[in-house]
Amino acid sequence: MDIILLGPPGAGKGTQAKRLVAERDLVQLSTGDMLRAAIAAGTPVGLKAKAVMERGELVSDAIVSALIGEHLDKSNGKGAIFDGYPRTGHQAEALELLLADRGRKLDHVIELKVDEDALVERICGRFTCAQCGALYHDTAHPPQVEGVCDECGSTEFKRRPDDNEETVRKRMAEYRAKTAPILPVYESQGLVREVDGMGTVDEVAAAIDAILDA
Ligand code: AMP
Repeated sequence: MDIILLGPPGAGKGTQAKRLVAERDLVQLSTGDMLRAAIAAGTPVGLKAKAVMERGELVSDAIVSALIGEHLDKSNGKGAIFDGYPRTGHQAEALELLLADRGRKLDHVIELKVDEDALVERICGRFTCAQCGALYHDTAHPPQVEGVCDECGSTEFKRRPDDNEETVRKRMAEYRAKTAPILPVYESQGLVREVDGMGTVDEVAAAIDAILDA
C-alpha cells in the first residue's frame, strides 16, 4: 500500500505517519526528515538545503525526488507513507514515475484539513526527544514528567529552527501556492480522501484507519 499524507505544515502528517509505521508494515518517507539528516551530516545536499529551509521555502524538486528514489530502493519493497512529499506538480509527476518503475502505484491520498491559525500554535509549541525522536507539544502533549522523555528517558530535547511564526507563515503560503494545486489532479484520479485534522491524534488516526481498511 502506498499512501500520501497531504496537508499544510503542522497538520499532523508526521504524527500519523509514525503511528501507521508502528501499527502496519509500512515505511515513513519524510523528505523533511531526510533533509534534516543531510544537514546534520553536512552532505552536499544538506549544505544546499539548509538556508532554503530556514527561510521556509521549498528545496528543489530534483533534490527531493532523488532522495525519495534512494529511500524507496532501501525500503525492501514495503509500502510507503509519503509525508511532506510531493509538494509540487513536478514532484507529483516524479513520484508517479518512481512508483511505476517499481511496478507500484498510489492507493490513497489522504488530505488532512486544518485551520491555519490553530496550526501556528501547534507548530510553535512542538519539540522532539533528541535521542529517540518522540514528538511532544508544550501544552497539548508535554512529557508526563517534565523534562524527561516518556519513551526513552532522555532529558535532551530539540526544536526545529523553522518552527517559528514567521517561517511557519511562509511555509503555509508555499503550501497554498505550490502544494494545494496538486490536489485536483489526484481528485480527478479518485484518490483523495479528506480527514478532519483538527481532532485529537486518536480521532484522526481512527478516521485514517477507516479509509485504509475500507
Ligand atoms: P517538513 O518537515 O515536511 O515540514 O519540511 C521542512 C522543510 O523542508 C520545508 O519547509 C522545505 O523547506 C523542505 N522540504 C521538505 N520536503 C520538501 C519537498 N517535498 N519539496 C521541497 N522542499 C521540501
